[in-house]
Amino acid sequence: MNLLHKNELSPSPLMPVLFVGHGSPMNAIEDNEFSQTWQQLGASLPRPQAILCVSAHWETRGTYLTTMPRPRTIHDFGGFPRELFEVQYPAAGMPELATEIKENAITDIGLDRSEWGFDHGAWSVMRHIYPKADIPMVQLSIDHFQQPEYHYALAKELAFLRSRGVLIVGSGNIVHNLRRVNWQDENASYDWALEVRDKVNTAILDGNHQSVIDFQHQGAAFQQAIPTAEHYIPLLYALGLQTKADKVSLFNDKIVMGSLSMTGIMIG
Ligand code: ZN
Repeated sequence: MNLLHKNELSPSPLMPVLFVGHGSPMNAIEDNEFSQTWQQLGASLPRPQAILCVSAHWETRGTYLTTMPRPRTIHDFGGFPRELFEVQYPAAGMPELATEIKENAITDIGLDRSEWGFDHGAWSVMRHIYPKADIPMVQLSIDHFQQPEYHYALAKELAFLRSRGVLIVGSGNIVHNLRRVNWQDENASYDWALEVRDKVNTAILDGNHQSVIDFQHQGAAFQQAIPTAEHYIPLLYALGLQTKADKVSLFNDKIVMGSLSMTGIMIG
């Protein structure tokens, strides 16, 4: 007799963790160097039993998990072509996973049964990594009112999921200043964007997480490159899940439109 419930996660080898720089929502429907890398990731990663995504685009007071069985696809942007608004990402939710995370965490996490769904931070990337949308996904919100240390510490409470077949993905952008975007030149890069990209990359590859956490106290270039924290914070979730044995590598490590970095991190 099979005692496993239908939606119960089985033990697994340690799953990798990703941080993905999602950039413009147009990456969801464009075939470009970034979306091609995401497609290759999907083909090469061990197949997860479920996905937990921390997206820059779900900010809340308190931390929440999507807990609906059929999350809606949210088109949380304006001024883009109709084709983008027609994209649906019909992956299932996994209320059992959200409930289990809540029960295992020390931090108080709320269960969202009706408000959110999948925002473009999640689906613009996931429709390339897992185009069949056949892996259930849960989103974790970013508590806008917490300090960076909170997010890095909360990530550690999620570590058990890596040996339960869950792929944890942070989706944001390390360098992200929309006011300074250069719409005329896709390949432009400001000096301060390059400086911050290089310093953060070095800290990540050196395992110097404290430096990555302290991004708000590192001078003018960092203030330009990271004027608000929400696109940077998903990186702290990815790094908080890193163990000493994990290898770390970069992908899509490029600045676009002057002030956006597409850098992704593969851990494990
Ligand atoms: Zn974004």
